[in-house]
Amino acid sequence: MGTGDGSQKPPEPANPPTAEQKARSAKPAENKAPEKPASTGKPSVFKMPKAKDLERKKVAAKSKTTIKLTPARDVRQPSPDRKRQRWNPRDSSSDDTSGRPARRSSSSSSSSESDGQAEGLIPSSPQWIKHEYGATNIEPKKWGSRPRALILFSGRSRDGDLASFLNRKGWVVVVVDLLAEHPADLRNDKIYCKIIDDIRDKHYDVLGVATPCETFSPLRESPPGPRPLRSLRHPAGLLSSEHKLTKAELEQVQHANTLCRRSQESIENQIEWGGAMWWENPDHGEQKVDLWKTQYAKAVVKIRGVNVCAFDQCRFGGETTKPTKFANYKLDFSELDGLRCNHEVKEFTKEDGTKYKAKHESLVQRWRTNEQGQRERASKALGEYPAKLNAAISAAMANVDTQRARKFRELHSDPLP
Ligand SMILES: [Zn+2]
Repeated sequence: MGTGDGSQKPPEPANPPTAEQKARSAKPAENKAPEKPASTGKPSVFKMPKAKDLERKKVAAKSKTTIKLTPARDVRQPSPDRKRQRWNPRDSSSDDTSGRPARRSSSSSSSSESDGQAEGLIPSSPQWIKHEYGATNIEPKKWGSRPRALILFSGRSRDGDLASFLNRKGWVVVVVDLLAEHPADLRNDKIYCKIIDDIRDKHYDVLGVATPCETFSPLRESPPGPRPLRSLRHPAGLLSSEHKLTKAELEQVQHANTLCRRSQESIENQIEWGGAMWWENPDHGEQKVDLWKTQYAKAVVKIRGVNVCAFDQCRFGGETTKPTKFANYKLDFSELDGLRCNHEVKEFTKEDGTKYKAKHESLVQRWRTNEQGQRERASKALGEYPAKLNAAISAAMANVDTQRARKFRELHSDPLP
């Protein structure tokens, strides 16, 4: 995910567009190339280590198992070997599955820790099944009494993402994103209406929403980057003619606003029946525009029972500080709240050779070559949550106080020693 931003975004006109951006703008809903690039060989080898792990598990634990993984088995037989990967705080999206042998945890005998949070190991992404909209980790006819999460703007599927953690906990996860394995566009009215219907019909214990935030980005204030599209005074966009946005820029803001409005409506419908939700977006502080300054977010935040928690993603292994806010309802995010950057100041070197001191390397205007060999803004990688943050979010979600989740916890709680 994103869960994160970047997923539903229209191209940034003032940038030299990457191949990915071009492809995305041309055919947003059908563009599947970027998230599982063939060049990395990821799709073909992606599941291999799972099978290997299970083979090892078969020998080690003499448990009856087959190579084909199902999330259901994960629940009944929490397998320490599935927690094969160590935290890689620098890059939660790294694919350790591609080639390197699976590593086993020295402390893997402790099977009581089911989400790897304490052990520092990350779960694999599930095998996605096409859903009526987006993708699900479990066929709907097998959902049964499992607790369920709907994640809007989940980003591309990757090991250690939020869906992987929820999947390992035995949850049903439905993900909706242009970059999901089965892409879905929330701007599509049919898709959107069906989602709203399902939310109203209490399908999901928790709704998580990570609305794309590019049009709010403060990077837009640093020339020669793309121009700002919003301001503190005009959080809904610099729409009047005096601001002289181009047609493409106006469309970009309007598309983003549609997604903000639909995020708000989805959340309000979820709260209305008493379901839990979170809404995530960057926190730019008092002096800069961000989602939290818009009417969409303000309307949600003022609903009784909605809390806001704020923290810095570097405390969860993020590459930069990335101050972040979560509006939340019926979820306990108190463990995240207030965790602010506590890192030492270090010296960094800019691309032009000059040195500067900071707590984290500045990614503004920096470009990198991504896994697919394409040039992209260094800040792009920041759109995805670090795995450690996903562990924390999923832990809060799994503790939600809905009937389904309560029952599930009772049934699947670890037996006392
Ligand atoms: Zn920090």
